[in-house]
Amino acid sequence: MSIRLENVNYIYGEGTGQEKWALKNINLTLHDNEFVGIVGHTGSGKSTLTQLLNGLEKPSSGQIFYNEQDIQGEGFSKKELRQKVGLVFQYPEHQLFEVSVIKDVEFGPRNLGMNNLEIEKRSFDALKQVGISDDLLDVAPFALSGGQKRRVAIAGVLAMQPEVLILDEPTAGLDPAGRTEILELLQKLHRERNIAVILVSHSMDDVARYAERILVMNQGELVLDGAPEKVFRYRKELREIGLDVPQSTNILYELRDRGMDLDVNGITPEQA
Ligand code: ADP
Repeated sequence: MSIRLENVNYIYGEGTGQEKWALKNINLTLHDNEFVGIVGHTGSGKSTLTQLLNGLEKPSSGQIFYNEQDIQGEGFSKKELRQKVGLVFQYPEHQLFEVSVIKDVEFGPRNLGMNNLEIEKRSFDALKQVGISDDLLDVAPFALSGGQKRRVAIAGVLAMQPEVLILDEPTAGLDPAGRTEILELLQKLHRERNIAVILVSHSMDDVARYAERILVMNQGELVLDGAPEKVFRYRKELREIGLDVPQSTNILYELRDRGMDLDVNGITPEQA
């Protein structure tokens, strides 16, 4: 699996006199089984980028290739793309609407026209992956806790058996325990199921801890792209765009062990 963006621009309200340039000349390749963190200030283009990656929006100019096939090209199946590249929106639990947990998770596979046995198998498996126990299958989604609802919403996307899972701020509004649960779940899916994870987050600590590659967005541009220990060397540049290196001492020590040259920038874990 690969997703490649070539000179991609995205402008909201093009031709209306109220243009908003949300993405500027993005060049980027996402690979199989990567865990990528996308960081950047509010309005830097993160959400817009995620919506282009699964074909929900189309670029104003430039091209996007899935497995080297142009996704705007004739004969390319957008339906298959949306299945392979699962997108979990911000506050996905707002989209739960069925009478029970299991029915909600079954909705996607049922829409794809699968037989009942396959629908059931995928849905049970997805709920198991997110750690929702069988006694909750017939419960109404609204009766669940915030963290449980979110995991059910993620199970709905997993039931489509995506190769890539893109999540836009999946820990927003959850308590620390709920946040850790979600992040550990993503790591497990990545490690055990070989799913590529693309995590949009404003927490530098979270992306440093879990992601193997970090994309830094600023005002619609991709300004840094690399391993955490490389990206966080640019502390001055990050600060200029309202971001910073992780604050957790443990993470800073780990990054230093992985080759982040903290001393060159005059930062030690104690000072950060
Ligand atoms: P982020 O996810 O990093 O906060 P977005 O992708 O949501 O950034 O937004 C990028 C830019 O596009 C911002 O300037 C934002 O105001 C603008 N934008 C986002 N959605 C719309 C929209 N529906 N109409 C017009 N402008 C938008």
